[in-house]
Amino acid sequence: MTRDPRHDILFQPLQIGPKLAKNRFIQVPHCNGGGYRDPSAVTEMRRTKAEGGWGVIFTEQTEIHPSSEITPFIEQHLWEDKDIPAMAAMAEAMKSHGALAGIQLAYSGINGPNLYSREVPLAVTGGPILTFTSDPVHARTMDREDIRDLRRWFRSAFRRSQQAGFDIICLYGAHGFGILQHFLSRATNQRTDDYGGSLENRSRFLREVIEDAREVTKGELAVSLRLSLHEARPSGFSNAELRDFIAMHAELPDLWDLAHGTWEACSGTSRFTPEGAQEELIKGIKSLTPKPVVGVGRFTSADAMVRQIKTGILDFIGAARPSIADPFLPKKVEEGRYEDIRECIGCNICVSGDMTGAISRCTQNTAFMEEWRKGWHPERPRPKGASESILIVGAGPAGLEAALQAAKRGYRVTLAEAGTSLGGRVSRERTLPGLSAWGRVADYRTGQLAPLPNVEIYRDSKLTSEDILSMGADHVAIATGSHWRRDAVARLHLTPIATDPAMPLYTPDDLMAGEIPEDRHVTLYDDDHFYMGSVLAELLVSKGCAVDFVTPAAKVAEWTDNTLEQGTIMRRMLEIGVTVHLGKAPEAIGAHEVTLGCTWTGRQNLIPADAVVMVTSRSPNDALYHATRALDWRGAGIRGLKLIGDAAAPGPIAWATYAGRRFAEEIDHPMDNDTPAFRREVAALEPLPSRLP
Ligand code: ADP
Ligand code: SF4
Repeated sequence: MTRDPRHDILFQPLQIGPKLAKNRFIQVPHCNGGGYRDPSAVTEMRRTKAEGGWGVIFTEQTEIHPSSEITPFIEQHLWEDKDIPAMAAMAEAMKSHGALAGIQLAYSGINGPNLYSREVPLAVTGGPILTFTSDPVHARTMDREDIRDLRRWFRSAFRRSQQAGFDIICLYGAHGFGILQHFLSRATNQRTDDYGGSLENRSRFLREVIEDAREVTKGELAVSLRLSLHEARPSGFSNAELRDFIAMHAELPDLWDLAHGTWEACSGTSRFTPEGAQEELIKGIKSLTPKPVVGVGRFTSADAMVRQIKTGILDFIGAARPSIADPFLPKKVEEGRYEDIRECIGCNICVSGDMTGAISRCTQNTAFMEEWRKGWHPERPRPKGASESILIVGAGPAGLEAALQAAKRGYRVTLAEAGTSLGGRVSRERTLPGLSAWGRVADYRTGQLAPLPNVEIYRDSKLTSEDILSMGADHVAIATGSHWRRDAVARLHLTPIATDPAMPLYTPDDLMAGEIPEDRHVTLYDDDHFYMGSVLAELLVSKGCAVDFVTPAAKVAEWTDNTLEQGTIMRRMLEIGVTVHLGKAPEAIGAHEVTLGCTWTGRQNLIPADAVVMVTSRSPNDALYHATRALDWRGAGIRGLKLIGDAAAPGPIAWATYAGRRFAEEIDHPMDNDTPAFRREVAALEPLPSRLP
């Protein structure tokens, strides 16, 4: 395979201040839910990016001082010298294959509630903390002494960054999260001293802090400024003002790193935001400055990347999610292995790891954040063990990933699928409004499996337990998926509700199979709280239905707060005319109406309906597993029989691909289940102080 010469430009080195980037691929800062709690897990994750050919690799948000921290979100700390070794290990890993190592320094100001450090938050202009969780905490307005302190804290962070071995300092002023943006924006900077008012004044702190960075590091480190492209709130730092700022300070940083205004806007899911969506906001900025510009846009296509550079929009291609889904993206483009690129599907499951304080996972890259914890690698398979043959039943996300990973390890793999197409749930869900990118989960894996000589795939092959025993495989994985329930049972109702059989009831499976009520008055009951309910509401509206969206939650699709979509979903529901009933659930279903109960007061009301769609919970399709388990499978020569994916416990697609990977990794490499199946770090104890209070 050879690279298309049109893509050569992506491999031209480019200077960033005193440092030379070997190519145009920048892994921009991204969180991972591990942060200071899981230093080695994060370090090894970043090392895979280095191996995968990124020219510049950044850390996630690194908090410079305890007077500004964003607990419950787990980021990095550079609060004191004892934080240096963990960051130094990360810098070393980032530089291991010739990439430049960057550290993103953050002071969160009005965005940091300090729930852990208990310090009074300091902001450019005081007020309630602006974050996702409406913490009942205010920040105090910084006085001139505080601003001097803050400069000193930044200077300490610059020194520590240099000591840790970083090449680039990234100053965070984007997404509404960083104090540099708070200084720039008239919404968050209402000061009347010489740090407020005119743009010249609002820029003062940035000028001072960048000067400090150069002085402290003796100009040896490059400085990158990560700013919001457009802050939509009234008086916010708009795109027009950003352009004025860059024109006024054309040579201030060594790199302009530009990202959309809020994190929700910057990291939009594929359901709502296409590849390259920030182009209009960034176009033309390069002409204002001689310094290079990096931007993001969930870029996975080399052609789209080249276009950004050739048309003078960007100098560097920034990527967070595409680098998570495929840490080897640059290397694959470099080697012309385009079919091997594992494209991000834009689901934001990775983001949900940070939002929930868990460790992040990726639907596409099952090794993400397991590089150190489990020794998984995004590209290199674990060596094969003594077994020879593997049978996988069911070709959904779990079965496909299990087959691919087992085959890459060198086992002889048979994959049997009952249906005519491969992909299981994603082959159905990809047809729903906004979810076409889900199809990449199947396309990538079927594309990778196709050329492998040690894989046989059987479609239209619904196996029985007797079939399984007769196939003579050493190990069997049953990945037969799940189906949606029809009886309202989920979180609120743990037992079925009274239902008149005359009322037509539908499940998501029915709708995906093409059985869709048209031009009807439909009650959609969502006790699932992820994407499916609102996606089906869109589908029903497109078929002429009037939709009553009923949920016991206080928000539509409340779990999508974790994928940064909830506000967009609510807006979409209102815009397409869906009637939303919050804090309500069906208590009885009649022939022509649904009795709703208020989850707070118990009060009831009736709504008319011609049909009800239940988006509630799923039942595992585990009958085949239990039937096989009941036979003498060991006597038939099977050494291991596992139930995986939705068939074991329904969950998001990422949970299924993970289960597939885990099955394949553990063939001939069994884990004992008395201890954690992953490595972890336990905090080193400090010596006890001589006198405890
Ligand atoms: P997961 O998300 O766990 O991968 P899916 O529901 O997406 O689960 O996929 C399960 C797949 O298993 C479906 O494509 C389904 O057709 C297939 N399947 C179910 N039962 C059998 C069976 N007895 N033999 C072969 N394939 C099966
Ligand atoms: Fe992309 Fe989803 Fe992976 Fe995040 S979890 S990198 S959005 S595929």
